[in-house]
Amino acid sequence: MTKIQKSEQEWRAELTPEQYRILREKGTEAPFSGEYDFTFEPGTYRCAGCGAELFDSQTKYDSGCGWPAFSAPAAEEAIDAETDVSHGMVRTEVLCANCGGHLGHVFPDGPAPTGQRYCINSAALKLEEE
Ligand code: FE
Repeated sequence: MTKIQKSEQEWRAELTPEQYRILREKGTEAPFSGEYDFTFEPGTYRCAGCGAELFDSQTKYDSGCGWPAFSAPAAEEAIDAETDVSHGMVRTEVLCANCGGHLGHVFPDGPAPTGQRYCINSAALKLEEE
């Protein structure tokens, strides 16, 4: 159960169509198209849906995959993980623990020390620059 509960109508009114498609309908932005793919300014990445702190720029790296990649969340409790068997693959979906918004997926091919690659849609994030 997420802390923020809103109707799909409310979400639709608050989010851009692209944010809604990704956060509420588990969509994926086209690779290399997102606002933050090549952004490395210091700051805090917040959920575009609810503003919760999700990732720190210090964990962001260029994975070459076409989406923003992070090696760890800002805090373990900031995100939820769920098994996703759509599109003929078994993946781990990453969601905002605060509002339940879909963020992206996590893969076990990230850099040390975590070995994790959080592959996150730019449209699900809002960078608060330092
Ligand atoms: Fe959120």
